Formats: sequence, C-alpha cells, structure tokens
Amino acid sequence: MVKTFLSYLFDNRIDFFFIFANISTDNNLSNYGVNIKMYNKIPIETSARHIHLSEKDFKLLFGEDAEMTFVKELSQPGQFVCAERLTIAGPKGTYENVAILGPYRKETQVEISLTDARKLGIRGVIRQSGDIADTPGCTLISPNASLKIDKGVIVAKRHIHMTPSEAIRYNVKDNDVVCVITKSFERALIYADVVVRVNKNFRLAMHVDTDEANAVANETNPYGVIVKLFDNNTYTVDMWLEELLMGISR
Ligand SMILES: [Zn+2]
Repeated sequence: MVKTFLSYLFDNRIDFFFIFANISTDNNLSNYGVNIKMYNKIPIETSARHIHLSEKDFKLLFGEDAEMTFVKELSQPGQFVCAERLTIAGPKGTYENVAILGPYRKETQVEISLTDARKLGIRGVIRQSGDIADTPGCTLISPNASLKIDKGVIVAKRHIHMTPSEAIRYNVKDNDVVCVITKSFERALIYADVVVRVNKNFRLAMHVDTDEANAVANETNPYGVIVKLFDNNTYTVDMWLEELLMGISR
C-alpha cells in the first residue's frame, strides 16, 4: 500500500508539486489581499519588424527639412510609431511598408525576425538593442531616396522591460537572464535566454518577435511568469542540456 502510494506520487510528482504549490501560494498571498494571477503576470508583446533611424539617416531618406510624423504611442513611454514607412531590401528579397519607430536613435537599427532574415537573404544575428557592431547591413528605400547601411540589422534578443521596484519584486537585476513560462492553450513553452532590462522609465512587458510569438498559441492575452532556473553564471541552460545528454539529472 505504501509502495503503491509512493510510486503513484513519484509518477505524478510534477502534478502534485504544482497543485501543492498553487494551493499554498494562493493561500499565503490571499491573506495579504494579493491576487496571485495579477501579481506575477508579465504581459508578452510582439514586436513586428521595424526600423529605428538616426536623425542623419532620417533626413537622408525623407529630406533635410522632414521631421518624424507622430501616429501613436507604444507601450514603452516615449516610444512612438511614425507615419513614414520604408522598404527593407536584402540580396534575396524585400519588405515594403515597414514601420519606423521614434524618437531618433543614436544609430540606425533594423529589427527583424529570423524568418524575415531568411526572406531578405541576410544573416540573422541575435543581439540586444543598441549592440550593432559587426552586424549585417541592408538597403533602406523611401519614396525619394535609398540608403545602404553597412551594419544595424539585428534579431532582437528577447527581453523584459521593468522598473527598479518591479525588479525588486521579481528578485532580478538589470541584465539578468531568466526563463519565462508562458500561458497558452495548446502550445505552452518556456522561453529561456530572456534578458531583464531595468529602467525607471520602462513599463512592465516582455518583448518577443513574430517568430517567438507564433510559437505560443495564445493570441488573446499572452503572458508569462519568470522562473529563475539558474543563475546563468555558474550554471546555464546549455550546461543543463549537456548534462542531460550525458545522462546526468539533478
Ligand atoms: Zn523592448
């Protein structure tokens, strides 16, 4: 009887753990009037391909006297979509009508997905925003001009924007790398290699590209929850994988 019960527990240990964890956390937090679902949720937002331009490149493409035309605000304070659009051209293909996001950046940066990179015929290089040394270039085409950039095309590394107080709440700091469990109805997944970005001007949101968003089947209300599986300095997802391949399980 004991053996049967234990083996049942063992076979179902993950379910048991989660049920237990949910009940206990729910009870603990509800004592403090905290709704656990709202408390831990990080909204996941999809960034479609877009372009940030330096002021110099904007003027080259749209004219010396041109200014960005504000259309609508984005979730991160101060960021907005412009009315102006560009075509991105690579050796194998083009994307027309690509959004420009304001305000001006120090350097021009084009953010695409790995699928986009394949269609354009450009090497997909995963980088944090702003880190564009040794990245591929492309051609940007406006109605009246064309500009060849020799670097700046990146596939943005997935990341979470949060304020310092949220970082304290989640027990993370700027540039930490975390995993995020997603809520989905049929294709739940855990994103690894998610960089935490902390700034007092940020608003809580995780940013993924269209490939990453499509990998999760939740179009209506995507969100995730941080799980800090490793500290990423002494033990990483890669090391975990290597161990599992060798038959070591912790
Ligand atoms: Zn972002």
